[in-house]
Amino acid sequence: MAQTCTACDFDFSELDAGDGPASLMVLVYGALIVPLAFLLEKLVSPPLWVQAILWGVVMVIATLKTLRPLKALMIGWQFRIRDPEKRYF
Ligand SMILES: [Zn+2]
Repeated sequence: MAQTCTACDFDFSELDAGDGPASLMVLVYGALIVPLAFLLEKLVSPPLWVQAILWGVVMVIATLKTLRPLKALMIGWQFRIRDPEKRYF
């Protein structure tokens, strides 16, 4: 993450989402994809390697598409919580 905003030089150094976005994604995608894998197994019964490749690719694409926006969202929440004087919101 950049240390300062390129437009207004706002200091981002105290804002850090840590592992929060990745942990949340593990919970959400696990809850979504495991039932879908069971459903596919029940309906079609594909070979195990098809399940592994299919859901592996789905997980990687979903993670790459949502990690960055989720990190931005969590940093936004953090920024808002740490702004008790409501200077920015
Ligand atoms: Zn800015």
